[in-house]
Amino acid sequence: MVPHPPRAGCGFFAVPLAPKEKFPILEMRPGGRNSPLTIGVFTLLVSFVYMPSTQTVESLLPGVQRDVPLRDYATFRIGGSASYFFVATTKDQIRQAFLVSRQMSLPLLVLSGGSNMLISDNGFSGLVVLMKTADYTLQSAALSAEAGVSMDTLVQKTTEKGFAGLEWAGGLPGSVGGAVRGNAGAFGAEIKDSIAAVEFLDEKGNVRVLQKEQCEFSYRSSIFKTNGWIVLSAQFSLREGDKEQLCEEAASHIQYRKDHHPLEYPNAGSVFKNVDLKKLPKEFHERVRDHVKTDPFPVVPAAYLISEAGLKSRRIGEAQISEKHPNYIINLGGASVRDVLELIAVVKKEIWEKYHVVLEEEITILE
Ligand SMILES: Cc1cc2nc3c(=O)[nH]c(=O)nc-3n(C[C@H](O)[C@H](O)[C@H](O)COP(=O)(O)OP(=O)(O)OC[C@H]3O[C@@H](n4cnc5c(N)ncnc54)[C@H](O)[C@@H]3O)c2cc1C
Repeated sequence: MVPHPPRAGCGFFAVPLAPKEKFPILEMRPGGRNSPLTIGVFTLLVSFVYMPSTQTVESLLPGVQRDVPLRDYATFRIGGSASYFFVATTKDQIRQAFLVSRQMSLPLLVLSGGSNMLISDNGFSGLVVLMKTADYTLQSAALSAEAGVSMDTLVQKTTEKGFAGLEWAGGLPGSVGGAVRGNAGAFGAEIKDSIAAVEFLDEKGNVRVLQKEQCEFSYRSSIFKTNGWIVLSAQFSLREGDKEQLCEEAASHIQYRKDHHPLEYPNAGSVFKNVDLKKLPKEFHERVRDHVKTDPFPVVPAAYLISEAGLKSRRIGEAQISEKHPNYIINLGGASVRDVLELIAVVKKEIWEKYHVVLEEEITILE
């Protein structure tokens, strides 16, 4: 249970105010007299404002649930419970949850598809907001989608209407918000390629919009990730294309993933980012030459390094490095967060010893 500090006031936006600001209608004049009515009103106000708060997260955020297991919302199927869990179906509800978390001094975690997260077995002592905003509009080549819309839906709807820009994301799990925050990418493309603007909630609870050039997109990152801002919706600028070709391309990516990724087991996608070739010591360049990919710049696939280090199928507890795709860790059944973290540590250590390069995690780890 997270302790709640006592709060003054009872309004939704109540913030502690200086005493003078609380009672702008009452001036206690030195040496002057106040009528019994004035004193009565004053007493009432003081007791009202300083009354021990009866506010609870439940009273401020109707629909919030207690002690909800997060493993059900993460593709790794690992993780303890959230103290508070709220399903937001509108942008207003997302903002409301944000303000309540501030008001009650609760850490906040935004969860979309849960396809890029490793959640602690201890769960999350705070408020988890599950993004279920599901509105989108496609008008000609302009697509607008709320953060909770699944990428799967967008790929299907845009390709079948003959608009190009998201077909590369065929089979990409998760929702718009997670993809924009992490600038998700695959098959030589990234979500930033078709973004026009992003609407988000800043750290003060203001709703703002940034144009693409202001979003500081980079390899698996964005200004939303670095600043901890909440993506509310995104505008995409698509192009007209050949419907059949686009559908075929999306379907071929889905098939590729089935054939090459261990989708039979719970996982969270690639555990590590691919390695910037510039960061790999020169002495290894010749050895990795045939495996360098330019996606989105010259990188050595982490999967290749892990495989070359002989780590395929390495297992700790119920967590295992996939044989099929060695940058994936799979949950064989009852893997604990500790199993996965130990395996990550082993991989990082062995890759450092073999290649003198530090592997960086791509997944979000919530310990
Ligand atoms: C089988 C598999 C294959 C994958 N393949 C790829 C791939 O090819 N390319 C790729 O880039 N990724 C891939 N991933 C990883 C994952 O699918 C992407 O990173 C995806 O974009 C995450 O979206 P999500 O909605 O699931 O985010 P979540 O996992 O729910 O969240 C990820 C992070 O984003 C934050 N977040 C979520 N929503 C928001 C929001 N609205 N605003 C701000 N922050 C938010 C969360 O707090 C968390 O820190 C794969 C994952 C799996 C399981």
